[in-house]
Amino acid sequence: MISKSLEIQSHGGVNFPTGVSLLKDSLRNKGTAFSAEERDALGLKGLLPPRIFSMEEQVERALKQFRKKESDLERYIFLTALQQRNETLFFRLLLDHLEETMPIIYTPTVGQACLEYGGIFRSPRGLWISIEDKGNVESVLRHWPNQGVRLIVVTDGERILGLGDLGALGMGIPIGKLALYTACAGLHPYYCLPITLDVGTNNEKLLEDPFYIGLPRTRAKGAEYEEFLEEFVAAAQKVFPGSLIQFEDFGNHNAFDLLGKWRDRICCFNDDIQGTAAVALAGLIAATKETGVPLRDQRVLFLGAGEAGTGIGELFVSALGEEGVSEAEARLRCWFVDSKGLLIKNRGDEMPKHKLPFAHEGEHVASLAEAVEKIRPTALIGVSGVGRSFTADVLRSMAAINERPVIFALSNPTSKAECTAEEAYLHTDGRGLFASGSPFKGVEYQGRTIHPGQGNNVYIFPGVGLGALCCAASRVDDSMFLAAARTLAAEVTTEDLSRGSVYPSLTRIRAVSLKIAKAVAERAYALGYAKIPRPADLEQHVAERMFVPNY
Ligand code: NAD
Repeated sequence: MISKSLEIQSHGGVNFPTGVSLLKDSLRNKGTAFSAEERDALGLKGLLPPRIFSMEEQVERALKQFRKKESDLERYIFLTALQQRNETLFFRLLLDHLEETMPIIYTPTVGQACLEYGGIFRSPRGLWISIEDKGNVESVLRHWPNQGVRLIVVTDGERILGLGDLGALGMGIPIGKLALYTACAGLHPYYCLPITLDVGTNNEKLLEDPFYIGLPRTRAKGAEYEEFLEEFVAAAQKVFPGSLIQFEDFGNHNAFDLLGKWRDRICCFNDDIQGTAAVALAGLIAATKETGVPLRDQRVLFLGAGEAGTGIGELFVSALGEEGVSEAEARLRCWFVDSKGLLIKNRGDEMPKHKLPFAHEGEHVASLAEAVEKIRPTALIGVSGVGRSFTADVLRSMAAINERPVIFALSNPTSKAECTAEEAYLHTDGRGLFASGSPFKGVEYQGRTIHPGQGNNVYIFPGVGLGALCCAASRVDDSMFLAAARTLAAEVTTEDLSRGSVYPSLTRIRAVSLKIAKAVAERAYALGYAKIPRPADLEQHVAERMFVPNY
């Protein structure tokens, strides 16, 4: 379980650092905001310039410097340095200017930061554990200075965003995700540990680069990989008991295997599969308020049948199950087109396990346009990584079939989106309900501005993690993600919808995360997963555990 935020902030009161050590302690440093009394009492006199600034003034100054930088990568480096120096100020800046800073600390800039990680790496944040540490993973984990860790985000760097195998350079991802946990759900940074498992890389360019920071070997696979992952999970549970492990940006095959192996044994989840599923499902549920077509009457056609697509399909099936639809019937409401055409039984190719439950009886259909004509979907979801694959014809067909067609182009980055917001509105006569993975600006259409929503996982995973940790959950199961999705959908207001968005404004993210955390903890209690007695006021219990970045 995690403690009240204030208890952690004063954690270790006996050994409270002073002088230079305090200024180097990023969790306690206030920089020029230390008061005259604090400077006297804590041995800071002379170590700081004499003028004292308020936190508001510090934020203003930092923002000015941030905006002065000439490129997004430089802004990323600036924010990383600030985080290294003064986390309270870093998170205050993030939270107060989330729409401006999120694309820097996370996608799309974090992708570029990963590509250049070797060059911009300054000081350690997070642990690299390499396959050469096999047999000694526990001792490497014990090198982390803070043994109070409760939340681990881990990647093996094989599928970093849409950029593919970046090996050890993937570290930017767990760091960025954890920053979002703190900014968006108030998970105290004290509890957070980013980890990159370096099992090698199959990226030829990196293997040939003399300055590559990871192991210059090809990826471990088979038994070597599995034993290493097994050792890592067991050691993490031993060194940080009860911690939640979030698997992030693993390759498709390993992502499904790891989740299948651990989901019923420890507190863990995979954001690419389950977080994406919940955010997309929330968008579908919110859209029903506009389309008037209930969820149980939806027919969804997916382009792409990978981690994201089949993850959404599975959660959609669970949601329909809650509404009394049988599993077989619910699966028939989900159709997939992948790189080989419509997913049907006996297609003749060897299908991975995650696709099989969605392979229906049917005839071969090669193109998406044909599939739309045949399936007549109410919603079209793009998770293929293939840019501009929702052509004008496809969008026009959706508009001919539906009064309010639901069009989600979730592939990232922007260049990979299946269509742009503008195309979605143009080819559906402004009737489309559009959401995307990467942000799109508002679109002028026939005298009004439509502001599309972003189906960003940040609406889901921080709240899910916070909820699980606040009740010391032993598991995170799909019904908790379902609860998160329904809660998120309920937070979408008529104002959000009339602006064109099936998601709430990011300015309300903390309030939304709190509601999600409560709903997730509620499910954990109902399922018997929560390991602490249920507090009388669950929402207050969670709220008190949210870190507010103030001095
Ligand atoms: P994945 O590699 O597991 O799956 C990709 C799928 O697309 C595979 O089934 C593949 O067969 C299919 N595909 C490839 N080429 C195709 C083509 N030409 N036509 C039809 N299908 C094709 O990847 P993933 O993790 O499922 O991610 C897919 C995309 O979704 C990525 O671009 C990712 O950025 C995006 N995504 C978005 C969000 C979000 O917006 N919240 C979250 C997760 C993933």
